[in-house]
Amino acid sequence: MSIQSPHLTTSVRRHRDDHNIHCATTTPIKTNVTPSATSPKTDDPSLKSTWSHRVWVATGCTTILASLASAVVGSVNEHIWIKPILSGFIGYLFADLGSGVYHWAIDNYGDASTPVFGFQIDAFQYHHKWPWAITISEFANRLHVIGRIITFTVTPLYLIFHDQPVVMGFVGVASGCIMFGVQIHAWAHGTKRKLPWIVVALQDVGVFISPSHHAAHHQPPYSNSYCIVSGVWNRFLDEYKVFEALEMVLFLKLGLRPRSWSEPNSDRRKEAEESPVM
Ligand SMILES: [Zn+2]
Ligand SMILES: [Zn+2]
Repeated sequence: MSIQSPHLTTSVRRHRDDHNIHCATTTPIKTNVTPSATSPKTDDPSLKSTWSHRVWVATGCTTILASLASAVVGSVNEHIWIKPILSGFIGYLFADLGSGVYHWAIDNYGDASTPVFGFQIDAFQYHHKWPWAITISEFANRLHVIGRIITFTVTPLYLIFHDQPVVMGFVGVASGCIMFGVQIHAWAHGTKRKLPWIVVALQDVGVFISPSHHAAHHQPPYSNSYCIVSGVWNRFLDEYKVFEALEMVLFLKLGLRPRSWSEPNSDRRKEAEESPVM
């Protein structure tokens, strides 16, 4: 399951050779270039949306809307409301928890050469280096990878469970939060006065993760606040050191050393540092 797309996938690939990032599980991230030499540019054409990007976002949205519509129609026909609404709420909580687990795994294990996930691992390291860059890619450019994954995972679920409103409630809300979790994450790096008022309101009440909440992930010790949909799980996961315990288990059982044990490194930046005036 993918929670967060490689927001700057194309750009990352292009920058990868320049950065010469080595993210082995046993070594800290190193870079051989100065940050100012590779700072993303707001007019970078690789951050623009293409028609292919828009098609994948559209198909992803279609599968989500079809699932939600099935949940509503099935609820009306069967005169049930509580269970589909409850399953939708569980889907919302699941998306946030899933975003945290996936983000933690991607942040800490593997490197750019890892099969399947390598480009996302690279993209997340890029995001830590240039957090604000997520805000300058265009919408479909940012969401097209997760749109494609949602299309291929939700379509079979819809075909099998379309007549079960409780399942469709969970699938529709969870996949919607997972897909738009990328956008919610981007908004968490936005400037409040430039965000739509409704987004700011949802951030303020905690439905979406807020900039102040997510900022904790981009500050030392760089090993907490991994959840990026609502962030509702972060307090529990951090307070009970759930990921630290998992890291210890993986180290003792498999010898895998998480990247967070090698932090801090100079590649990480706080939001305000070196961000362009936007
Ligand atoms: Zn991260
Ligand atoms: Zn972030």
